[in-house]
Amino acid sequence: MDLGLKSRRALVCAASDGLGRSCALALAQEGVAVTITGRHAERLEKTAQELRSLTGAEILISVGDITTPAGRAAALEVCPDPDILVNNAGGPPPGNFKDFSEKDWQDALNANMLTPLALIKATIEAMVARRFGRIVNITSAAVKSPISSLALSNGARTGLTGVIAGLSRQVAGHNVTINNLLPGLFETDRLRKTTQDAAKAKNMAVDAMAAERKALIPAGRFGRPDEFGAACAFLCSDQAGFIVGQNILLDGGAFNSTF
Ligand code: NAP
Repeated sequence: MDLGLKSRRALVCAASDGLGRSCALALAQEGVAVTITGRHAERLEKTAQELRSLTGAEILISVGDITTPAGRAAALEVCPDPDILVNNAGGPPPGNFKDFSEKDWQDALNANMLTPLALIKATIEAMVARRFGRIVNITSAAVKSPISSLALSNGARTGLTGVIAGLSRQVAGHNVTINNLLPGLFETDRLRKTTQDAAKAKNMAVDAMAAERKALIPAGRFGRPDEFGAACAFLCSDQAGFIVGQNILLDGGAFNSTF
């Protein structure tokens, strides 16, 4: 299917690796000119080279921490007027509720709620004026089913979800859509690290820990980042203009419910 995205411009945040990189790759494969961001210049440039050689698309980079005003300003300088915005940043650390400081909460809210909102605010008016815009926020399955050790993530991301539910309906009439993608367990560096940490905490082999986690997923495996990227590209397509304010869970069936 041609997603109708040729010559569109996208800003994909936190995209030198993992889910962000997969979204950038899937969009570049559709002929989108993509700006990717990340904090480490060498890693980001390496990814940009890979995406260029895999797709032939124009790939620009912006080095910086997207959760800071300076990082966002730098990204918007490279890609001032994106047709597509994919909001992403690292997730907050795990821990016990009683140990979290006010600063921990401020940091989580900043990274996973206020940063995407700031980028949306900076780009949405031009999307409305152009009568085309696609915004995808990478959140987490924790929005739908809280993970007790990830209270910071549960809270900050659910806050974002509430704002998007209202905002998405205010701009849908201008062919600007905002949706959230909720990853379950996807095979990325972050997952490898959390699996290693969990194995260490339970004094188990990493392979055994991974098998235990996969056993909780009806699909019997972790998600592949390319599957995530493909879902993102579709949400950004011309054809997805009627998908508004949705929270789409990609979790191999792990969340057990009828709806
Ligand atoms: P990842 O493999 O750790 O990749 C993170 C990417 O983001 C890297 O390219 C990193 O590059 C960049 N990055 C991180 N913080 C950044 C920042 N402040 N500014 C700019 N770039 C930044 O993570 P992932 O697994 O793809 O996860 C992406 C998001 O989905 C995270 O919020 C995560 O919590 C959430 N999530 C993931 C899963 C999963 O199974 N993978 C499940 C649920 C939720 P630099 O280090 O160079 O900046």
